[in-house]
Amino acid sequence: MEKKEIDKILLVDAHAHLDELTDLTESLQEAKAAGVHGIVAVGMDVDSNRKVLQIAQTNPGYVYPALGYHPWEIKEEEVDVNLSFIREHVEEGIALGEIGLDYKVKVKKRLQWRVFAELLDMALESDRPVIVHSRFSHRRAFEMVKEKKVNRAVFHWYSGPVDLLDKILSMGYFISATPALAYSPPHREAIQRAPIERILLETDTPVSYQGREARPKDVRVSMEGVAKLKGLELSFVAMQTTANASEFFQIRFCCP
Ligand SMILES: [Zn+2]
Repeated sequence: MEKKEIDKILLVDAHAHLDELTDLTESLQEAKAAGVHGIVAVGMDVDSNRKVLQIAQTNPGYVYPALGYHPWEIKEEEVDVNLSFIREHVEEGIALGEIGLDYKVKVKKRLQWRVFAELLDMALESDRPVIVHSRFSHRRAFEMVKEKKVNRAVFHWYSGPVDLLDKILSMGYFISATPALAYSPPHREAIQRAPIERILLETDTPVSYQGREARPKDVRVSMEGVAKLKGLELSFVAMQTTANASEFFQIRFCCP
């Protein structure tokens, strides 16, 4: 890419687990150099939420915290402490996430539904959007979000059925694109079908894609994947998805 084109790129990584990085400082510097103007750091449980808040505090105007309770982390005896922490700190985050359902983990569905429902209530009460994990549970996750009348939701790394995607889009919800666009047919199909106005870019850092751990700078890979699939200019994809992130999170991402 030419220098002039790089200057025009202004990206937001809408989903990164920054608390899991041991090379955080370097990763943030590299992201800035790559045109990433904002990162949404998502939490998984109390420990991770604490770290996320602290990382955001030390990187104001660049890292924005979302408080979450990931379905992978749900343990019956820890539910109360996790939900109380989020309830207490919800106003310090710009969103609730990562939250949702995962039918591949052993956590009982009934417990996952109860936790997710409570978190959706908190999102409604605090007027925060939700960042939804819905692996092997796309329909139920969507139904719960819809029934609660949550008005801002992103179905993160959406790789579910296309008929459901149409329902997600008709509710005005978003989906997010990851570097998995390079190899995942269901993810590609979803991103191809969704209008660019309903797509956020993200990395899910530090997830490994084809053996390589992602960092927030790799949101460029997500951008390139979207541009290629949809036949759009890179600078247009960057501009539109950053505008989408601003609309979704109600944050003006600009100028680190
Ligand atoms: Zn994640």
